[in-house]
Amino acid sequence: MICLGIESTAHTFGCGIVDDKGTVLANVKDAYVTEKGGINPKYAKIHHDNVKDKVVEDALNIAKLGLKDIDLVSFSQGPGIGPCLWVGLHKAVEIAKKNNIPIVGVNHCIAHLEIGKLKTKAKDPVLLYTSGANTQVIAYEAGKYRIFGETLDQGIGNFIDAFARHIGLGFPGGPKIEKLALEGKNYIEIPYVVKGMDVSFSGILTNLKRKFDSKNYKTEDICFSLQETVFAMMVEVAERAMAHCGKKELVLGGGVACNKRLQEMCKVMCKERDAKFFVPENQFLIDNGAMIGWLGILQRKQATKNYKKMHIRPYERTDEVKVDW
Ligand code: AMP
Ligand code: MG
Repeated sequence: MICLGIESTAHTFGCGIVDDKGTVLANVKDAYVTEKGGINPKYAKIHHDNVKDKVVEDALNIAKLGLKDIDLVSFSQGPGIGPCLWVGLHKAVEIAKKNNIPIVGVNHCIAHLEIGKLKTKAKDPVLLYTSGANTQVIAYEAGKYRIFGETLDQGIGNFIDAFARHIGLGFPGGPKIEKLALEGKNYIEIPYVVKGMDVSFSGILTNLKRKFDSKNYKTEDICFSLQETVFAMMVEVAERAMAHCGKKELVLGGGVACNKRLQEMCKVMCKERDAKFFVPENQFLIDNGAMIGWLGILQRKQATKNYKKMHIRPYERTDEVKVDW
């Protein structure tokens, strides 16, 4: 069985083609980027509309397949930005209808976890999911994927991007902040906000903006301190989830997980508690169609030809998803 998966929750329109053995035959994406400013939903939607046909066509060409070879279509139904999700839904329905094949809507966060498992061979991990809009610690317990900790306000990536924007860097800011942080030598005290199993970034953002505006600190030192602090918060919560669930594996997911310093801190934590640490390659960390295709394969029993039933779910939570695979 071959599944074509479509991702369009936020900045990225992606198409992945995956077979039921877990072989990724194609993983093509086109991301909305800006010189200045963050994601504007209206322009992100226009971007997706402009690239969707070519992204799907390129994926089919890379996989050396025609539409007739596709048995199943899956799409990210949420959580995500409404107008962006609509583009993915419509493209997915268009393909499924044309081929008269079943379609299934899947959860974006669980897709990050499942592609992490597929690519790293982790069996029953805790997922530290650090992306633009989402920041969650997820694990499978008692029949569902449950959220053990999460951000109380913005996602860690959006937080980093917002600070990057404030200091004049475009979107995405994460890689630029990572580069600047490498030049930082002095740790500056900034708030460390863990509340129970949850984290919060908005107060830290205000604090960092004030520090930058005061001109009393080197930008590189601020970036260094930002990373050290918020990554330590994430590692703390992930470790506590592992201890609570008695799990011995940690998998990373989400674009922020491309950050080498975050990876290093997670690795050290896992080593200290005799757990295994896994990180898939970058193309499967950031938003991508392959993870949607793979989750489509896993959820194939839920697929339908009742195309009218298909919907987006911008606020869907991981524990609302029926896990029957
Ligand atoms: P996603 O939403 O999972 O595709 O991830 C996008 C987010 O990842 C954006 O907020 C980026 O700024 C962030 N990001 C990408 N690469 C890095 C990096 N090397 N360090 C920190 N954040 C990053
Ligand atoms: Mg994501």
